[in-house]
Amino acid sequence: MTSEPLLHWIDGESVASVAGTTRTGTDPSTGGPGTQLSLGTAADVDRAVRAAHRARTSWRHLGSLERGRILAAIGRRLLAELDVLAAMETADTGKPLALSAAEIRGAAEYFEFYAALVNLPAGQVLDIQPNLHVYTLREPFGVVGVITPWNLPLNQAARACAPALAAGNTVVAKPAEATSRTTVELARMAAEEGLPPGVLNVVLGLGPDVGTAIVAHPLVRKVAFTGSVRVGQEIGRIAADRILPLTLELGGKSANIVFADADLDFAATEAVRAYATNAGQVCSSGTRLLVQRPVQDRCVDAVVTATRRLRPGRDVGPLITHDQWETVQQYFKIAAEEGARAEIGGATALDPALTGGFYVEPTVYTGVTNDMRIAREEIFGPVLVVIPFDTEQEAVELANDSDYGLVGGVFTADMSRAIRVAEALEAGQVYINSWSTQSVQMPFGGHKHSGYGREKGIEALNHYSHVKSISMRITRR
Ligand code: NDP
Repeated sequence: MTSEPLLHWIDGESVASVAGTTRTGTDPSTGGPGTQLSLGTAADVDRAVRAAHRARTSWRHLGSLERGRILAAIGRRLLAELDVLAAMETADTGKPLALSAAEIRGAAEYFEFYAALVNLPAGQVLDIQPNLHVYTLREPFGVVGVITPWNLPLNQAARACAPALAAGNTVVAKPAEATSRTTVELARMAAEEGLPPGVLNVVLGLGPDVGTAIVAHPLVRKVAFTGSVRVGQEIGRIAADRILPLTLELGGKSANIVFADADLDFAATEAVRAYATNAGQVCSSGTRLLVQRPVQDRCVDAVVTATRRLRPGRDVGPLITHDQWETVQQYFKIAAEEGARAEIGGATALDPALTGGFYVEPTVYTGVTNDMRIAREEIFGPVLVVIPFDTEQEAVELANDSDYGLVGGVFTADMSRAIRVAEALEAGQVYINSWSTQSVQMPFGGHKHSGYGREKGIEALNHYSHVKSISMRITRR
């Protein structure tokens, strides 16, 4: 694909990079050229942050109703442009169009939901002493940096931008270089829906240049980062020096636990959805399937049958880059060396119509123990490992024996056990008898290496504002 380079969106207008540099990406469906975009540097970040800093007071004091009206209008606009945005997302990522459309709908929901909550970051009046009037205020931070990955581009940008703006902050967003288009469109459409210049800015470019500059900029007062543990750690080091608050949404190796009394066919279908959606490139993928031993064979058969129905190119898109494709190939080798057995997959897709794209076959491994690398490391491809267990306690111990702790699933007919296990899992979200209730209302975030802070729900608003207490002496006559 060739086109005019995509430009930054700064202070309400499209602008080229200060350095004038551009780069052409790669189309993951063909391996050919993709979107051409401007590459930003610290100079572009500085321009955007200063615009956001100038806009912050008037945005905060615009009045919550007016802020809410604008955010609601942005939500409606995203829905109105759903087809255009979904096509853009699919062009950049290669994911099935229906999946892109669902993600754009989700992006709109973030704006609709937080538009209705603009008054919620409210304070309290504290009854302390008769001669004191004491109250708390929830205040925005000011300029918030939002750094997002390539796997759900617009959806994840909206997940952070909508509550940040609702809480009265202004934003400088940096989408992943490979999938920047829809975030720029969000900012452009938001401006057309009345968002004042400087309130939402988008700087394009590479993480080490643009992302680092956002985290290091002295006028940025909070950063929401979604991506890898490695980069989360790098950002954390810079943030530690600056005492900068962070929300970190990092990786996962989430476990789906299937007990012998579960509806096995349904659990198997859900397990496939859990590991193969978006070609496994989702932080909350269910990539470990823990199955009670007596039903392991039946469950694996059902999972393999459901996996066989998936067609790379139709149901499962490509991996985002050649590097990511190679990473998954590397894990296929590691799995073979570790003695795991591929029940299906374990090689590249062979359909000649797809050669050139970064496709891999959805893959299911048995003969896996929880200490193997394929059971411990986030692969970020459509790869499932199946591990048997005997008792409830063992299932919980296996699920929690991970560096990660993002989400989890429990399939059982015994509701007391379902609740016991759900509460024992070290994870930010747990699903019982279905996989992944994707709802804007449910707070989302991790334990351990999966990160900290929460996105979504009312909870997120607390992460985009801080509390001030004010006390006033009252003279009583
Ligand atoms: P990264 O963490 O590298 O990228 C996420 C975002 O951070 C991108 O916008 C990236 O920019 C930016 N970034 C990269 N380096 C820096 C830096 N030094 N300072 C600030 N920002 C930076 O993830 P990858 O895209 O490389 O994916 C690698 C792995 O991360 C995956 O295999 C997966 O394990 C995990 N991942 C997890 C996700 C999740 O939702 N939890 C999402 C995506 C990936 P750019 O890409 O433009 O250079």
